[in-house]
Amino acid sequence: MFPTNYNDILERIDNFNPLPYAKTRNFADGAVSRLSPYISRGVISTQQVFRHLKAKGHSFESIEKFVQELAWRDYWQQVWIAKGEAINHDLKHTQGDVMHHKMPTALLEASTGIDVLDSAINELEETGYMHNHMRMYVASVACNQGKAHWFLPAQWMYYHLLDADWASNALSWQWVAGSNSNKKYIANQENINKFFHSKQTGTFLDTTYEEIAQMNCPDVLSETTDLNLQSELPKTQQIQLNVNLPTCVYNEYNLDPEWRINEQANRVLLLEPERFAKYPMGNKTIQFVSDLAKNIQGLQVFVGSFDSLKNILGNERIYYKEHPLNKHYQGIEDQRDWLSSVTGYYPSFFKFWNKCRKEIKY
Ligand SMILES: Cc1cc2nc3c(=O)[nH]c(=O)nc-3n(C[C@H](O)[C@H](O)[C@H](O)COP(=O)(O)OP(=O)(O)OC[C@H]3O[C@@H](n4cnc5c(N)ncnc54)[C@H](O)[C@@H]3O)c2cc1C
Repeated sequence: MFPTNYNDILERIDNFNPLPYAKTRNFADGAVSRLSPYISRGVISTQQVFRHLKAKGHSFESIEKFVQELAWRDYWQQVWIAKGEAINHDLKHTQGDVMHHKMPTALLEASTGIDVLDSAINELEETGYMHNHMRMYVASVACNQGKAHWFLPAQWMYYHLLDADWASNALSWQWVAGSNSNKKYIANQENINKFFHSKQTGTFLDTTYEEIAQMNCPDVLSETTDLNLQSELPKTQQIQLNVNLPTCVYNEYNLDPEWRINEQANRVLLLEPERFAKYPMGNKTIQFVSDLAKNIQGLQVFVGSFDSLKNILGNERIYYKEHPLNKHYQGIEDQRDWLSSVTGYYPSFFKFWNKCRKEIKY
């Protein structure tokens, strides 16, 4: 489902047809791109995808909805850069109607009784992907009917996603739970049936929006579980470094095979245990990272802290790409490729988008 060879990834960009996207994207079988695992892992950028579609001759208007979604990615990243650690807490408002800080067991066990949702959870664990609209339903069931605080369920989803991106993840969970938006997002069974082509009735969501908004936690969601998510990182290898060369540091958010490709450099994939303890990723995602890393010639894997790598390198010519999780890196910071030059915190996406749109519209 998600090839890791760079040429296959470029082919996926090329094969993507953005024209039916706006009308179909909310449906289970809609024409979505499935590019997020590659964008999240820093193999390709939002700018690269946009430029490619533009070069293929699509008019801006015909691809605008898709480009707007690419801008959501940049937007959440900019919020993360601006707010830092604050995104790990309720950002705009305190989440209302919270009963616990655990995980509803029925979501862990895919036994909520909402058939398409349960299948999607099983599929997430098998494939590492979940459709955007389904992510919204799952988050709403966990936080708004199950009354969980958003943080732990968000970590659970992040753990399983190949496209795990803490900004898109945490801030979307908060958007659904009402701590990063003005109201909680709610869907009923009829809406789920429409977009996921099911005909189920009689579930706890088979009622009106008004009733769902007032609902107590349904019995099926009342059992909760503590989570202890662990990342299994590869074993540390002995790395061979040429001390006369600079070093390019890659990580789980930067696996760009074209980055400084024409320079002679040591290339090291740095996996920091402390970072994975804080933002755990499951085995599938870690394997995905290792497979994508094979696109980078001569890359060696180093499991340890940035400081311990720096001690081995013993020189200051360390290159890395800007990212909110790399604040403790030292060396020469390269910028990421964004859709536009719009930076900083915008409380509303549409204010951000309007500025971005003005700059990139052609
Ligand atoms: C609760 C919840 C959790 C999420 N967690 C993550 C996450 O951990 N990692 C992640 O990459 N995305 C996350 N998203 C956003 C979105 O669901 C995925 O980016 C999208 O489903 C990826 O599939 P696609 O590439 O086929 O998207 P497409 O619909 O084809 O969109 C194209 C690209 O636009 C960007 N994009 C689209 N929708 C969004 C969005 N809502 N927010 C940010 N960027 C978007 C992505 O880069 C995506 O690849 C989350 C959304 C919700 C509601």
